Amino acid sequence: MANSKYEYVRDFEETDRLLPGTWIVVRIDGRGFTKFTTRYQFEKPNDRRALDLMNAAAEAVMKDLPDIVLAYGDSDEFSFVFHKNCTLFERRASKLMTTIVSTFTANYTFLWSTCFPDSPLAPPLPSFDGRCVCYPSDQYLRDYMSWRQVDCHINNLYNTTFWALVNKGNMQAREAEELLKGTVSSDKNEILFSRFGINYNNEPEIFRKGSVLYRDFFEAPAQVPAPSVAEESTTSPPLSHPRPQRTIRRPMSQPIERPVPDLRASP
Ligand code: ATP
Ligand code: ATP
Ligand code: MG
Ligand code: MG
Ligand code: MG
Ligand code: MG
Repeated sequence: MANSKYEYVRDFEETDRLLPGTWIVVRIDGRGFTKFTTRYQFEKPNDRRALDLMNAAAEAVMKDLPDIVLAYGDSDEFSFVFHKNCTLFERRASKLMTTIVSTFTANYTFLWSTCFPDSPLAPPLPSFDGRCVCYPSDQYLRDYMSWRQVDCHINNLYNTTFWALVNKGNMQAREAEELLKGTVSSDKNEILFSRFGINYNNEPEIFRKGSVLYRDFFEAPAQVPAPSVAEESTTSPPLSHPRPQRTIRRPMSQPIERPVPDLRASP
């Protein structure tokens, strides 16, 4: 009801437009996934089916929201990057974030049975939280990505060692925790190699480095042919594209099977 006497309550709304010209990162994270992964008996430390599901849901989000140029995920989290010139929802933080969270969650639930055909979902259903952060330079955005990838590495090295001690070394969880207290990376590598013959560097890259999805761009030729599916590439995604135009946008590639290049090494 426009212009009613109640209209004034709109003035209570706070503006949450994000700084123009900055990269917008929306990071989502599974709520209580430590419990959730136990309930659905995820393989520890890494259940590949669950990573495939996260990647498939993220791909669906990118297809739905063409303003997203890049996404990086590991474990139960995904970071989505909106182009710095994005004007979607007038850059309102709550609209951007809630749209990503609900689109991701809906697709995660919808696609669940394709990855976990033998474990039907039942309440309490998976849910995700989200936050928006602006990064005012390409360098800050690169450092953000590196930060998440380092986090993936540190957690995965810890988890790989912990679960080797528990599953292969027959240790109690508390004993393994105690043993790992105060250890640095080289200690964990040593434990894995000397006790279990595991060379951490030979673990699948998708576990060690996470996954990246990015939109591929090409210059619009004089006559625009039908868009083709972008080939996967292990090169780092460029950060300085002009604002994407509908005519030069390529569809997303298939969910990433191949793991990401080392984001820290990107130029
Ligand atoms: P919060 O609600 O605060 O995020 P959380 O229990 O989800 O709590 P996280 O720090 O997000 O805490 O941890 C995610 C948990 O989910 C970790 O225990 C991680 O090992 C587990 N997990 C996520 N993905 C996988 C996977 N593919 N395979 C096995 N375990 C996974
Ligand atoms: P936006 O993304 O900006 O919200 P919108 O198309 O969702 O765009 P709304 O103002 O939210 O715009 O309008 C919701 C639309 O959905 C209206 O057209 C409304 O008639 C329709 N709609 C919602 N619920 C029902 C319903 N139960 N039965 C029929 N139509 C419905
Ligand atoms: Mg969280
Ligand atoms: Mg979580
Ligand atoms: Mg997490
Ligand atoms: Mg609506």
